[in-house]
Amino acid sequence: MTQTKPKKTTAKSRTKKGPALLPPAAVKEVFARMHAIEPEPKGELEHVNPFTLLVAVVLSAQATDAGVNKATRPLFAMVTTPQQMVDLGEDRLREIIKTIGLFRTKAKNVIALSQQLLRDHQGEVPADRDALEKLPGVGRKTANVVMNMAFGQPTMAVDTHVFRVSNRLHLAIGKTPLAIEQGLEKVIPAEYALHAHHWLILHGRYLCKARSPECWRCPLTDLCPFEPKTQSKSA
Ligand code: SF4
Repeated sequence: MTQTKPKKTTAKSRTKKGPALLPPAAVKEVFARMHAIEPEPKGELEHVNPFTLLVAVVLSAQATDAGVNKATRPLFAMVTTPQQMVDLGEDRLREIIKTIGLFRTKAKNVIALSQQLLRDHQGEVPADRDALEKLPGVGRKTANVVMNMAFGQPTMAVDTHVFRVSNRLHLAIGKTPLAIEQGLEKVIPAEYALHAHHWLILHGRYLCKARSPECWRCPLTDLCPFEPKTQSKSA
């Protein structure tokens, strides 16, 4: 992989208050390197169509993707449409997903959103934010994931990993997911926008971890303003 050295931070790249954002050339380089490492990043939630993706994302709030996949494998072997979910019923759904945190509320929401899809959208998952956010259990982040993965829109779903990595790398600096989402939308080059949130999730999950980022093996170390960088355990 060829790595070019972008220009250093300049006064122009500084935010009005607080630390400087990463300069545009460095932002481009961050995503060029992520693209070189993983050209087609994929989400890790298993699904077979937009409806099962929507259900999986609703179930994933405050749960791991691996835990959700374990529960949804048998579920999606039986249920792939809103009508089948309504026919399954809340009691049986609750039983199938009982290993996932907040399963009672989530089962209620999944049945209610399935009913709403049948009533208002001919059983199809809508592609626009307003309609998605009207569904029970669907917030801005879930809508962003569905719009991105099911409909190819360049949305920035900000989860805990994207939030942390963006702040550490100074791609966007903010105290709320919405501030980070809007910050990322301003700086990420268009050619990288579709996959940006997946790259940032994977980077946060496997390298730039919450408690101990693995800076010694990070391909972005020379671009990243986060200090202190962690050293190899064996160093
Ligand atoms: S250098 Fe460290 S803090 Fe910066 S992005 Fe890499 S792992 Fe995260």
